[in-house]
Amino acid sequence: MSERLPEWVDPWRLVQQRRVLEGESPLERMTRLAQQAGAQEGRARVLLEFLRDDEGHPRVRGRIDADLVLTCQRCMESMRLSLALAPDLILVADDAQAERVQAWGDPLIVPERLFLRDLIEDELLLALPQVPRHEDEAECRRHVGRWLVPEAEAPAEERQNPFAVLGELMKKD
Ligand SMILES: [Zn+2]
Repeated sequence: MSERLPEWVDPWRLVQQRRVLEGESPLERMTRLAQQAGAQEGRARVLLEFLRDDEGHPRVRGRIDADLVLTCQRCMESMRLSLALAPDLILVADDAQAERVQAWGDPLIVPERLFLRDLIEDELLLALPQVPRHEDEAECRRHVGRWLVPEAEAPAEERQNPFAVLGELMKKD
């Protein structure tokens, strides 16, 4: 599954042909993803099936897998997020059709041709957590522990302020 996906496709024809596309899409080319999640490396692994469903609706569905590196908003260290998405979209030609479809499915508006990377990037963006955080809080504490003094120790340090001690000595004289 190392094949590069075509950049542009005619999804309407692919539906007629009932085609399955399988391949990879480089994450570093996804500029909107970089804006939201930071620069990414590696590739999304993609399988997309173009078909007409039992009710006659043209559909694109399949699987998108990608490993992203995000910044945890609790400890500000990097964290890996593995996404395994199962897109299932109804192909429509315009906004009016999209509105009708919205009640029961996710429309994908494609007047003619489809830039595949946009579809893949859209799906990844939708799956991004609003506030990325390590799932296990212990992971964050491990990172924070490297440079933060535990809170409990701070007041003790104040009590041993050398000037305060000096002040006490001078009073005795
Ligand atoms: Zn964290």
